[in-house]
Amino acid sequence: SVQREALITAIENVAARIEDEKSHLTDLDSAIGDADHGNNMYRGFSAVAEKTDEFEEMSPAEVVKTVGTTIIGNVGGAAGPLYGGSLMTASQELEGGITTETSVAFAEAYLDKVQDRGDAPIGAKTMVDALVPAVHTYKKSIEHDDLPPLTAFAKAVEGARRGVAFTVPIKATKGRASFLGWRSVGHQDPGATSTLFIMEEILATAE
Ligand code: ADP
Ligand code: MG
Ligand code: MG
Repeated sequence: SVQREALITAIENVAARIEDEKSHLTDLDSAIGDADHGNNMYRGFSAVAEKTDEFEEMSPAEVVKTVGTTIIGNVGGAAGPLYGGSLMTASQELEGGITTETSVAFAEAYLDKVQDRGDAPIGAKTMVDALVPAVHTYKKSIEHDDLPPLTAFAKAVEGARRGVAFTVPIKATKGRASFLGWRSVGHQDPGATSTLFIMEEILATAE
């Protein structure tokens, strides 16, 4: 289907972007973590990219679920289970296909699961700081402002970008970066950054 092909192209573009940003993400993690976020994400998404042929036989929900299980299976650390487990759970929202409505439900379920697993509030200097403004902006743009999904998603990406910038001046209170306390201030969160990169590639594919 057209939808499955678009989804597969988006996944390939995300995998290529993660490869391009591998050393960038690792540099960010070397400042406030253990210098492995780029490699972790790359390990996950290169395994995902190898499954493109299998994706051809699957529904969109199955594709997203398989991306999640593949990330869980290939990425350790904090980010692997957060990304992979949340994609797996949220994929259920796409079982009726990808529509404007199910995409909002997916986004909300994904954020819920990240917060459920990681227990990070907003302002803890994690991927949640990119996700909260992104998901809230997406939902509001569709349900309140009646914008078309692509316009809403472009606004969501801007929300994520503001969220990433917001991680710089704040102190980490979750994840490895929290071990640094005040020394984490002034550094951009790696997981919020990879979340933004993924969203940027999904948007670029849809445009
Ligand atoms: P690790 O910290 O185990 O080495 P990664 O380096 O791959 O794992 O991922 C680090 C990123 O994970 C952080 O930048 C942050 O965005 C995210 N993260 C860490 N802990 C949490 C948490 N409790 N909730 C949400 N995100 C988290
Ligand atoms: Mg790390
Ligand atoms: Mg690690």
